[in-house]
Amino acid sequence: MLKVIGKTSVLVLRTSNIKSHFCCMRLVDSHAHIYLKEFNDDLNLIVDRAREAGVEAIFMPNIDHSSIDEMLEVAQKYPDFCKPMMGLHPCSVTKDFEKDLYEVEDWLSKGEFVGVGEIGTDLYWDDTYWSEQQEALKIQLELAKKFALPFAIHCRQSIDETIALIKPLNNKKLTGVFHCFTGNVEQAKEIIEMGFLLGIGGVATFKNGNLEEVLEETSLQDLVLETDSPYLAPVPYRGKRNEPSYINLVNTKIANIKQIDAEDVGLATTQNANRLFKQITYGG
Ligand SMILES: [Zn+2]
Repeated sequence: MLKVIGKTSVLVLRTSNIKSHFCCMRLVDSHAHIYLKEFNDDLNLIVDRAREAGVEAIFMPNIDHSSIDEMLEVAQKYPDFCKPMMGLHPCSVTKDFEKDLYEVEDWLSKGEFVGVGEIGTDLYWDDTYWSEQQEALKIQLELAKKFALPFAIHCRQSIDETIALIKPLNNKKLTGVFHCFTGNVEQAKEIIEMGFLLGIGGVATFKNGNLEEVLEETSLQDLVLETDSPYLAPVPYRGKRNEPSYINLVNTKIANIKQIDAEDVGLATTQNANRLFKQITYGG
């Protein structure tokens, strides 16, 4: 019955506040790799389309040493719009990971980054370097504390393992987001209780995405939006190249599930992302 009451109040708000569809939409893509070769030919267009859709910032997690130059090039080209992070992705962790992490630390000490990412664990693609993955995650979480930066965590088929790794290291200094969250309600609650956010992307629009219950049960204050471009495009673009403007589809899906106004979802998640990545904004 609560839902009916919620719906009624939204309807009242809508009729008393007529405005064109996107005029007040504020969105942030908290996770996109728009520096990858998939965007070489039309990055300007992609950025224009994102701005037109209401996206006001794109946060870019690094992958490994081979992606840093391209990422920084995009950050320099769009300094007020595309903000870089620094980190070693779990799928790039090998036996030589310590050398890579010295490089990560060196870059972080330069102070040009808004987060430590993309870090985490992955048991889906390859578990050959599982112990190195765990070690690399712990070291990078310490780097997040040292540089007072939020983390962007990737965990694929390893949510419980990742939660268990973070728990003993967690303190008030640690902030961050579990990007591309695809877990269950219990896991979502555990992450939120630790003080972290859930990154919600295209999977929320998939028929088999299994995120409806999680989204019903979690509050907007614990969510940020993301595309993970060029991967994981939302329906109806599933399987195609993803881009930040498609974040609108994720936003609308969350609004529909929660039966609230899409602009409210956009505003709340934008404020959450700006707060997390310590961006100074005008009017929230
Ligand atoms: Zn990613």
